[in-house]
Amino acid sequence: TMLVAVSMGSLADLWADFMRASGAAERVFELMDREPAIPAAEGERPATVEGRVELRGVHFAYPTRPDVPVLQGIDLTVNAGEVVAVVGSSGAGKSTLAALMSRFYDPLQGELRLDGRPLKSLDPSWLRRNVGMVAQEPLLFSCSIADNIRYGRPDATDAEVEAAARAANAHDFIQRFPDGYRTEVGERGVQLSGGQKQRVAIARAVLKDPRILILDEATSALDSESEHLVKDALDRLMQGRTTLIIAHRLSTVANAQRVLVMEHGRVVQSGTHSTLMTQDGLYRRLVERQVVAA
Ligand code: ADP
Ligand code: MG
Repeated sequence: TMLVAVSMGSLADLWADFMRASGAAERVFELMDREPAIPAAEGERPATVEGRVELRGVHFAYPTRPDVPVLQGIDLTVNAGEVVAVVGSSGAGKSTLAALMSRFYDPLQGELRLDGRPLKSLDPSWLRRNVGMVAQEPLLFSCSIADNIRYGRPDATDAEVEAAARAANAHDFIQRFPDGYRTEVGERGVQLSGGQKQRVAIARAVLKDPRILILDEATSALDSESEHLVKDALDRLMQGRTTLIIAHRLSTVANAQRVLVMEHGRVVQSGTHSTLMTQDGLYRRLVERQVVAA
């Protein structure tokens, strides 16, 4: 198992390193899912979560570049169970928005709330157990497939791990390995394809069963069979959860109840896909430029 115990300061450094090294900020979320260690991790741990997320006047800049505004006044309410897609060019601030929702950073101004409670009043480890993330390039650990899935909930039984894998369309490919769920992955084990890794990450999220889900869709590099299986598994995972999808596929965007279009740290348009297509704005240009692709 892997424990991460760092202070808030080094967490931010770690974050920056990951961003620089791989562009995969989500990896830090996943690492921190297990053992977040912000000092003074005291706070409320509400017994139930509806899943309403609110951002009020949120401004943000990264500590390393305080003069570069990254979020410039975000106001947003995502109702419990609502599916919202976020689109925008690279650098618009989409991943940063996700980072603030898991409270890897606090805003410079404004506030984020969950069910009306300021995120700052909540126990960070409790918060992260209720916010699940499926990254574009999920991080798998060098251990068995079963343990990689169980990372979502360490006390899960073998039967629960298998049920999660089935829900994630991962059971069939796992079973085809001679060692099945005990197959080692990573450096000394088998190499999984991008689509297979994503389905392991989805199985993890199924086990974790968070009220709030943040998805960073894969843009490319999935073969069409994997693409179909991943999409199908994600559709199932989203059921009944508040979901924020950083979306690149037109099919996702078209199905979202609401689409937010971000540019330079602001939400510049919002509405359904069909409404936005009738407007002469950034959204239609993103679709035309295939930033949002079929
Ligand atoms: P998107 O996900 O929409 O592509 P990001 O939220 O990743 O955009 O980035 C928004 C802006 O913040 C970009 O200008 C990016 O260079 C900057 N940025 C992202 N992560 C960091 C970081 N760790 N430190 C400093 N600047 C960052
Ligand atoms: Mg991003």
